Amino acid sequence: MQRAYRTPRTRNQKADAARPLWIKSTEVAVLIIFGLMMGRLGWNVGLQIVRLNAWWMVLPSILCGYLAADFFSGLVHWFGDSFYREDTPLIGTLLIKNFREHHRDPLGIVRHGFIEVNANNCIGIILSMLFEVWILPDAAGYISLLVRGSLISYGLALFGTNQFHKWAHAEHVPAVAAWLQRNRLILSPEHHRLHHSGRYDRSYCTTTGWMNLVLDRIQFFQRIEWGVRSLTRLVIPSWSGSRRA
Ligand SMILES: [Zn+2]
Ligand SMILES: [Zn+2]
Repeated sequence: MQRAYRTPRTRNQKADAARPLWIKSTEVAVLIIFGLMMGRLGWNVGLQIVRLNAWWMVLPSILCGYLAADFFSGLVHWFGDSFYREDTPLIGTLLIKNFREHHRDPLGIVRHGFIEVNANNCIGIILSMLFEVWILPDAAGYISLLVRGSLISYGLALFGTNQFHKWAHAEHVPAVAAWLQRNRLILSPEHHRLHHSGRYDRSYCTTTGWMNLVLDRIQFFQRIEWGVRSLTRLVIPSWSGSRRA
């Protein structure tokens, strides 16, 4: 299978190992918190399914969460590609730099280890889990089951998003990942190439890419980008010049 993008290896593969200990420790802690929160939510949803005898809601919940994760991956990606600069204080280092570096060096993500690739997303997922813990009413009905069940699917899919993105660039992937790619159940190299081969202004979703089919067709991100630029010109500077790195 032809991969999404190939470039010569330019970075030191020992970069992961050289990262500060406090960052690596934080990433491990975030992964553990994510695992505990997902375990708690999974247990509660399982009990609710049994109590309501609502096994038929499993599939809709998985689908809703999977689509939501794909959309959210595109939303964050679009924002990172479209606004601010790498040298913008705080947000430039924390968020923007990763997206711009990925355009310059698409294989950089392949050289990063599992924890570095996947821990970042866990922070956003944990915030979503807090929504469930503190805001979602403690109801026991079907709607609450659908929301909580979707949150599990959303969390797991978003957790896997960077890994799916990494596999879309990798020369070799595990057999199960190749099968998932072939069946379009996760981001495929062919589909992701639409983003890297253009002006980085479409096909932002990187969980499965399913949402790109709709969002690209209606030019969703181009339209909201125009709206955001019109409304917030002073507070969200755009990426000056071409999107091409
Ligand atoms: Zn990519
Ligand atoms: Zn991009």
